[in-house]
Amino acid sequence: MSATDALAAAVRDIPDFPKPGILFKDITPILGDPVLLRACADALAEPFRNAGITHVAGIEARGFLLGGLLAADLGAGFVPVRKKGKLPWKTVEAEYALEYGTDCIQMHADATGPGDRVLIHDDVIATGGTAAAAADLIRQTGAEVVGYAFILEIPFLQGRARLDQSLPVYALLEG
Ligand code: AMP
Repeated sequence: MSATDALAAAVRDIPDFPKPGILFKDITPILGDPVLLRACADALAEPFRNAGITHVAGIEARGFLLGGLLAADLGAGFVPVRKKGKLPWKTVEAEYALEYGTDCIQMHADATGPGDRVLIHDDVIATGGTAAAAADLIRQTGAEVVGYAFILEIPFLQGRARLDQSLPVYALLEG
């Protein structure tokens, strides 16, 4: 079995979580297996090895799980993108639409800046709203978004259509 097939087989589908109608993609079986964990970080890093990435921006909370490993793999720093009110220093922020209402994410205003080349990472891209807001944050600091790396994309939600069409959007798996 290829590494990608093994990773795909490990993702667990949980119907109706956290609410009815949502098919939750549970990546914790990948995290719990040392071989799959390593393979997942390596596969996410692969397309970006020569992209001059200075920082990986991981989105709360599941973007933190592989984000540090991915950053270490690429010789880059790690930047947490968090829900509003969680970060202690000066922040930039971006609002994005949810099914009902809006949400807000923040990052430290000095976490990246002009000349930095940032890769955005999360476990799953669904509608793409969170990742698009993360790109907005990075650009507010003067840094450049170089691409996006997700473990899994849910294609029918067309999240990548909300991201910059000129940038690489890499998803290891589809589901
Ligand atoms: P979105 O902004 O719609 O792309 O949602 C992305 C965020 O929601 C990510 O942080 C994911 O972890 C989470 N998410 C959305 N849908 C799912 C799903 N079906 N399974 C697991 N996580 C999901």
